[in-house]
Amino acid sequence: MSTDSTTTDDAFPTDRPAVVTCGLPYANGDLHIGHLRGYIGADAFSRALETLGQETAYVSGSDMHGTPVAVNAEEEGVSPEEFAMEWHEQYEETFPKFNVDFDNYGHTHDETNTELTQEIVRTLDDEGYIYEKEIQVAYDPDADQYLPDRYVEGTCPYCGAKARGDECDEGCQRHLEPGEVEDPTSTITGNAAEYRDRTHKFFEVSEFADFLTEFLDGLEGTSNARNQPRQWIEEGLQDWCLTRDMEWGIDYPNGDSETTEDIVLYVWVDAPVEYIASTKQYADRVGTDEYDWERVWKEDGDIVHVIGRDIIQHHTIFWPAMLEGAGYNKPRAVAATGFITINGKGLSTSRNRAIWAKEYLAEGFHPDLLRYYLTTTGGLQQDVDFSWDAFQEKVNGELVGTVGNFWYRSLLFAYRNYEGTPEADVSEEVTERIEGAIGQTREAVNDYSLRGIGQAATQLAQFGNEYIQRNEPWKLTDDDPEQAAQVIRDCVQIAKAVGVLLDPIAPDKAQALWEQLGEDGDVADAHLEDALESPPRNFDEPGELFEKIEDDRVAELNEKLEERVAAAGDDDESDADEETESDDTASDESAAMADEDEDEDAATGDLEPLLEERIGFEDFQELDIRVGRIESAEGIEGADDLAKLEVDIGFETRQVVAGIKQLHDLDELPGEKCILLANMEPAELFGVESNGMILAAGDEADLLTTHDDAVVGEKVQ
Ligand SMILES: [Zn+2]
Repeated sequence: MSTDSTTTDDAFPTDRPAVVTCGLPYANGDLHIGHLRGYIGADAFSRALETLGQETAYVSGSDMHGTPVAVNAEEEGVSPEEFAMEWHEQYEETFPKFNVDFDNYGHTHDETNTELTQEIVRTLDDEGYIYEKEIQVAYDPDADQYLPDRYVEGTCPYCGAKARGDECDEGCQRHLEPGEVEDPTSTITGNAAEYRDRTHKFFEVSEFADFLTEFLDGLEGTSNARNQPRQWIEEGLQDWCLTRDMEWGIDYPNGDSETTEDIVLYVWVDAPVEYIASTKQYADRVGTDEYDWERVWKEDGDIVHVIGRDIIQHHTIFWPAMLEGAGYNKPRAVAATGFITINGKGLSTSRNRAIWAKEYLAEGFHPDLLRYYLTTTGGLQQDVDFSWDAFQEKVNGELVGTVGNFWYRSLLFAYRNYEGTPEADVSEEVTERIEGAIGQTREAVNDYSLRGIGQAATQLAQFGNEYIQRNEPWKLTDDDPEQAAQVIRDCVQIAKAVGVLLDPIAPDKAQALWEQLGEDGDVADAHLEDALESPPRNFDEPGELFEKIEDDRVAELNEKLEERVAAAGDDDESDADEETESDDTASDESAAMADEDEDEDAATGDLEPLLEERIGFEDFQELDIRVGRIESAEGIEGADDLAKLEVDIGFETRQVVAGIKQLHDLDELPGEKCILLANMEPAELFGVESNGMILAAGDEADLLTTHDDAVVGEKVQ
């Protein structure tokens, strides 16, 4: 299990400008809940950084180039530009409806991105990182056309899975270079493709292996974004073909030689440059004094990329190598989210097993409900299942039952008895509890844990409910009016604090509470410390901010979804029409998700490949693995991920350090049986000795245990 920690002595907020980005939406189709997870997640993270007082810009843009746009535009008989622009405009309209509030939203075909992309490529060329090479390119003789990327499919040379021209999307998820896919067939005619010799431009990614290794060691975000690329580097990096035989795209700079005449830059060259271009457009609009894009991208800004886990390689290998080679700053964090499944099955756009953005809105649900669901159900890198039942349960339980209930009862009591905030000081107990929640939020932001940010708010509301219940102010108003005022004063303060803490996740609802409290301005401008500032003395009668979702409503939604999936064709596993809706770029997680129809496969993309090399039984016997029982578990000061455990292994009790602090509720661990590697070399982590290793599965550290009555101390064999 991983004990590496993302702890930094350079925690947020820093005194540098930050930029948060989300993977670019690919201008090729309707948005669904799978896309929204990334845009909402990055939006929430960017808002959370701002509540810490971090100067932050949130930018993105539509990804306009690449073969899927070209193919679909051709089918519709319009130009690729016209086709992509239409989607771009639709996205621009949709985002605000989910409270996704970009500081700038551009697109990759605009002038800013075109110029910046060409400038970066020119620099890489000048610095000697680009060379020409003759390669074999798939060609369809009937269509008389070269077949870049999505125009060709075949077999992955690494794992044997069916693969697209540029990506092994159903197998090992590797990026594939032109000419690599075996047994190529043309997706235009379905014919076997020929390979023909063409000269292309290559980027010497292999030169950056040392840089990338060091980069990954310092990279924050989710662990999958560090671990997968480490393995790719170990296997040896390949240089990267930068150009494609097609017309739709950005011209190779100075493209007047014979080589560069009929080629454009590969879509993955200009897509991430949009992160920079969009930041620049924002700075150009507000002024460099307000936001210095060059400082962010060329000096020391904090760059945070939120992406889908299918595009880790692009963001942790190619992109940082490009930035380094062209003299730019490198990302501080890459947070790679898991996918969304629907009712336990892979999301499939072609089978209509999806929750569409416009459908959700048409059903009249408030965007903050979905924001809360998507950010707090499961950790960032876990797959999250969506069902209307689970949605209802979460909304009714946490938002209506806990947060909404607490807000309403406190404010109503305060209004009826005191016409607002009672005149009393907040008690020490409550001040401390709010300070604790603020600390929890700050830690969650630094751990890139959206769930943690949401939980800090919900748990505080939970405390508020307990506090009001315990103190029964309704019994005190006559007998002990001073004490009653004190309790309600505390509750009003907790209510305000919950609003400030919940703002990144549910900005509209937080703003509504803010206004109910009679506060001026926007809760979005509040910082965490404002959670401790007194609300105004008077406020009006409050209303309820969350509404319960009824059972018959859920039944109706389930029925609609089932009918839709049935109408799209039954669940036989014909994947024939899956390819056209997928894409090869930055953004569209639907690509990978669309192909995750077989549930079993949903997670395999994330699995580490099996090791080839076998070991003997003697080697195994050298491992002294024992059944243990956890006696105690506590966090380690200063280490965000690490917990100190005392584990009884029969003969003795061992102190063990494990990277599970964020992944488990430590209070629930004592008494649990676990499996411990007892003869692990002792190590010291954050000044704490670790004498053994607890075994766990996966990035979420699912702890291994026994299921029968194995006795503590027994050997695992
Ligand atoms: Zn493969």
